Amino acid sequence: MIDPKTWDEGTAPNSFAQADSAQNPTLAAALCTRIEHIVQRIATVRSGANATQETHILAVSKTVNAENMRAAFACGQRAFGESYLQDALLKQEALNDLGIEWHFIGPVQANKTRPIAEHFAWVHSVDRLRIAERLSQQRPAELPALNICIQVNIDREASKSGVLPEDLSALAHRIATLPRLRLRGLMAIPRPTDHHEAQADSFRRVRELQESLCREGLALDTLSMGMSDDLEAAVAQGATWVRIGTAIFGTRPSSD
Ligand SMILES: *Cc1c(COP(=O)(O)O)cnc(C)c1O
Repeated sequence: MIDPKTWDEGTAPNSFAQADSAQNPTLAAALCTRIEHIVQRIATVRSGANATQETHILAVSKTVNAENMRAAFACGQRAFGESYLQDALLKQEALNDLGIEWHFIGPVQANKTRPIAEHFAWVHSVDRLRIAERLSQQRPAELPALNICIQVNIDREASKSGVLPEDLSALAHRIATLPRLRLRGLMAIPRPTDHHEAQADSFRRVRELQESLCREGLALDTLSMGMSDDLEAAVAQGATWVRIGTAIFGTRPSSD
């Protein structure tokens, strides 16, 4: 039933993510079912964990074509997360008739801050003051303040971006003073593991860092943590955004 169709030369075809939903009502229905399944997974954890926070779904659409994003939007999904800037800008043009809330979740290079400041509502992946300063300077005056999460390298992995826990407080207090930004909270990608207890431990430490910053006087309300495979542990520890790619759109062409 699904007609695989690559949208970008050089990417391996994937029968789910690369198909054209406009030509394929079955695919559009499958997207709605997958999103509803995420909603159910979140609800199950919240009821078991007495969670009080609201948890929103950020649909991670890196490598996903515009038609599949349009189909997800038709299911009611409004917030989409991107990590490849050039791809994201092209899809923003293709989808500018929709009221999508765009989130940038990838590494931010200094020479890319202007388009990010101009074209996104949120950046989840700030880990350096210099990047935050540029985003603040370049955020257009007519737009609301840019929502910022600081990425924390919670498991101290050499391969990962993010500020180390001991450097977080100083960075957060500096960023909180920047005029065109609104510091909302923390983002983290823990060390991958299948063990629920280890996942929970990492997410708990992120929440404790957030609580400590709040005690220091910062008004933070956002924990961006949890992906397709560990969202249960993240929601139980207070996630307000879960960033879900694979469980909505299928396996991506390359592992990243
Ligand atoms: C790709 C990506 C995700 C989505 O991961 P899945 O396992 O596909 O749900 C979440 N967060 C970030 C920062 C990502 O780069």
